[in-house]
Amino acid sequence: MSKKHGKHHPGHRPGGGVTDGVDLNGGTRGDGPGDAGRPVAIPAARGIVSVAPGAPFDLAAVDADADGGLDKAWAKEALATERARIVELQERLYAERARSLLLVFQAIDTGGKDGTIRAVLKGVNPQGCTVASFKVPSSEELDHDFLWRYHARTPGRGMIGVFNRSHYEDVLVVRVKGLVPDAVWRSRYGLINDFERLLTESGTTILKFFLHISKAEQKKRLEARISDPEKHWKLDPGDLVERKSWDSYQQAFADALGRCSTPHAPWLVVPANHKWFRNYVIAKTVADTLEAMDPRFPEAPKGIADLKVPD
Ligand code: AMP
Ligand code: MG
Repeated sequence: MSKKHGKHHPGHRPGGGVTDGVDLNGGTRGDGPGDAGRPVAIPAARGIVSVAPGAPFDLAAVDADADGGLDKAWAKEALATERARIVELQERLYAERARSLLLVFQAIDTGGKDGTIRAVLKGVNPQGCTVASFKVPSSEELDHDFLWRYHARTPGRGMIGVFNRSHYEDVLVVRVKGLVPDAVWRSRYGLINDFERLLTESGTTILKFFLHISKAEQKKRLEARISDPEKHWKLDPGDLVERKSWDSYQQAFADALGRCSTPHAPWLVVPANHKWFRNYVIAKTVADTLEAMDPRFPEAPKGIADLKVPD
């Protein structure tokens, strides 16, 4: 349920023991929507698999081809509706300037991260949004702890931040390619959970989308990049080599999803062979999450409506 324009400035809500964003009751759960530490229950759209915390996850059991029985033409129209909701809610998030939303996208090569970001965030005020695409780390990045470069790109208050690849690469590609000793990547699941808890308790709601495509679908997409000259720029010959490690990647994904799904930041597995289905369910989840966050315009200073502009 969304409420219209807020009556109270965030951090100055009566009755909740909350002052200036500090919960005087000592917990992280206040009762005001402007309470930065208040976790939001993640409303995953139907058709998305929310990974249960604390249990091994069977990724192979998720059908990458699923489309929720939805009609493609309907979903394309519904996507536009969800986008309009996102745009409206983002304006309030930005104006409120108290909390942030982090969208994490992970997938195997050709899984559709770029296309999803383009489709879901079209029309969003660029000033209220940051996109960080993480590549092979630089030597400066490698000179720091593995979370350093990710923490530096998390969204500030009022912002939607997008991670195109993320801190999960450090338990995915790094594990599959054996870039660090086993004990190092194994210790990272707990560190990632702690990092995400820090962000959540600091007012960032985290949505983690895993775009799940089948091996056959990846072949199709790679072949399209080879046969269509307009897609040549997208083809990374390295992806053909990585494909040989398909099974190792699936194992690494399944472990990361199972070990790093937490009540405050669950992993959301999106059947992603059908782009129209993927785009719609992700846009709906983003819109529903923003609505659950219930950002509000700050209270206007008293007397503002009576101000006169000098000649
Ligand atoms: P792309 O996203 O297709 O532009 O490719 C970025 C490349 O950077 C991919 O091959 C990733 O596997 C790689 N990459 C991203 N993060 C890391 C990391 N932490 N360590 C090693 N490689 C990474
Ligand atoms: Mg690539």
